Amino acid sequence: MSLIPDHLIFLAALESALQEAASQSRPVGICLLWLDSVYHIDTILGYHAGDIACAKSLQHVQSALKDTDRVFRIGRSQVACLLPALTNEAQAVLAAHKIIRILGSHLALEQFTVHSEPYIGIALFPVHGQDANVLLQRAASALREARLRKEPVFFYSHEADAATQAQLQLQTDLRRALDDNVLTLKYQAQTDLRSGRVVGMEALSRWESPTRGTVPPTIFIPAAEAAGLMNRLSAHVLNTALREFQELESATPGLSISINLSAQDLIQAELPELLTQALRTWNVPAGHVVIEITETAIMDDQRARATTLEHLKEIGVQLAIDDFGTGYSSLARLKYLPVDEIKIDVSFVRHMLRDVRDENIVRSIIDLAHNLDLRVVAEGVEDEATLQRLIEMGCDMAQGYFLCAPLDLASFRAWLAPKT
Ligand code: C2E
Ligand code: MG
Ligand code: MG
Repeated sequence: MSLIPDHLIFLAALESALQEAASQSRPVGICLLWLDSVYHIDTILGYHAGDIACAKSLQHVQSALKDTDRVFRIGRSQVACLLPALTNEAQAVLAAHKIIRILGSHLALEQFTVHSEPYIGIALFPVHGQDANVLLQRAASALREARLRKEPVFFYSHEADAATQAQLQLQTDLRRALDDNVLTLKYQAQTDLRSGRVVGMEALSRWESPTRGTVPPTIFIPAAEAAGLMNRLSAHVLNTALREFQELESATPGLSISINLSAQDLIQAELPELLTQALRTWNVPAGHVVIEITETAIMDDQRARATTLEHLKEIGVQLAIDDFGTGYSSLARLKYLPVDEIKIDVSFVRHMLRDVRDENIVRSIIDLAHNLDLRVVAEGVEDEATLQRLIEMGCDMAQGYFLCAPLDLASFRAWLAPKT
């Protein structure tokens, strides 16, 4: 057992174990362990206490293993167990579960007992790799999956690793797309159901990638969030949408523009300034702009988000709750939120004539919105009969393929021309 936090010592031991095992055609196992208790103790009682907790945990781990197995602390909260004398792979899993059992109880430290939920990633020689460095990376990948999935023990999986690498590639390509300014916007009309007139347009992002084809926003928005690219993407969307809106609006006055922002945008302190700048640059009155935020993001009562919403309202833009009905709304919070509009999610509107439960949900949302003096927009209107039913129900506005598909600026301008 070594207390020196150094993965190099572990790698050297692993290399010699691999050489021996290869000559005898035996498997070797690595159990990589994340000690959440050490992490917590570091932050509450300090690093000295964290070291004591780690030493205790290492003793417990060693006691759960065979004498030939070796335990190394390779990071602040990471421990690698080398199992060089396996006769079969199932033994590695058994050892991992023994470690989890022994560490999964409470750890006594000073006057406290600390709850522990350790995770283990397993990689095996030769099935998961021949080389010490590769095997350690694979055990680390398995440990990441264990923590993500909240499964105490996870075996290295090539598929899970490939999915993570594909995510990383997507994020890299998206970063380049932003550098090269290739993201565009499509616009979908919003129709007032009393007058039948087009009164607004929603900007929807599009990424035409030379290698991937059309990537939908449902894929690249989460990738932008994970890669820390959301600010750049939203700055691009805000400026493009307002510039293109300004061009259109001068020919067809009276329209409003709806722009989607993500949960991450709301924790960005610079967002109100960015929006103010963009409105000034493109000479768009704030009152013509609707900022759409999903129900899940808007209901999060994190202080920073609530402050940003207030700032946006002060600027004079309108706020809409997007995808209403798919998240968890607190009615108490809805009462106080500075919103102007509720958008009924596509998933309820699409089948409302076939499923009476959807129809009842749509009716309830319309009533709720009106009782709170909010405008209500139905998304995803795909046929005439649905449109008629929404008019009967008193819905204020609608958008959907039946009325107008999302179109690029030139096509939207042409589509709009005979209607205004
Ligand atoms: P959303 O804001 O709720 O937009 C409505 C989605 O429904 C759009 O999908 C639209 O193309 C689609 N839609 C429109 N009419 C119909 C219809 O009649 N039937 C059906 N089944 N669908 C219809 P899209 O363009 O793929 O966007 C998906 C989501 O991605 C958006 O949902 C929005 O949450 C997000 N998104 C799009 N652009 C941006 C953006 O610039 N920034 C951020 N943060 N999110 C964006
Ligand atoms: Mg939207
Ligand atoms: Mg929506």
